[in-house]
Parts: sequence; C-alpha cells; structure tokens
Amino acid sequence: MSDKQYSRRTILQKSLQLCSALLGLGFLSGCGQGDSAEQAEEEAKHVSPVDSCDDLSGVSPSEVDKREVYGYVEESPYPDNVCSNCNLYIPPAEGSECGGCVLFEGPVFASGYCDYWEPVA
Ligand code: SF4
Repeated sequence: MSDKQYSRRTILQKSLQLCSALLGLGFLSGCGQGDSAEQAEEEAKHVSPVDSCDDLSGVSPSEVDKREVYGYVEESPYPDNVCSNCNLYIPPAEGSECGGCVLFEGPVFASGYCDYWEPVA
C-alpha cells in the first residue's frame, strides 16, 4: 500500500514538474515575442530618413507654397544641376539625408532642383 501511495505521489510530483516546465516555456516564448515586437518598433524609429525628405508636416503652408512658386521638384530634370551642387543648398545635418535651401524652409532632396538653381561660386 505504501509503495502504491509513493507511486501516486511520484506521479503527481512529476506531473506538476512537467506542467511547470511547460508553463515556463510558454512564458519564455511569450516574453521573446514581446522583445521582438519592441525591437522591431525601436528599429522602425531608426529607418533611414531618406524617405522623410518629402515630409512637410512641420512646414508652414506659406513655405510649402514657395516650393511651388520656385518650381522645386524632388528629382532634377537636369542631371548636372541638382540641389546638392547648388550655391543655395544647405547640406544635411550629420545623420540626416535631407538638406535644405536658403529660399524656403523644410527638407530638400539632394537630387532636387528649382528654377533658381545656381552653380556653386
Ligand atoms: Fe535646390 Fe533651388 Fe534651393 Fe538650389 S535654390 S538648393 S536648386 S531648391
């Protein structure tokens, strides 16, 4: 009888250990997924800012209008005349891909162009 009780106790203990182990694995894998989501979110914040050169969300409407008045385009139709070799171009700040222009506020594509392009003096 004692052997049989010991056997039941052993089975019960082993079952509890197995359940604990399985729950632990499930918890750990759940934590891993959380870390991956947080990591992906963090990486998204550090995406290359190349695509943000056309983000004018922080630019006033009057400054946005100037771009149109000056004929600014993101891709110059003249390969040798682009914003990056224009005398009025403001080079990008360190860590940024977008430059600026002395004629209007907001980000400017290095490959851009407008009617006021002038060669570097
Ligand atoms: Fe570009 Fe025109 Fe400004 Fe020159 S003046 S940097 S071409 S937008």
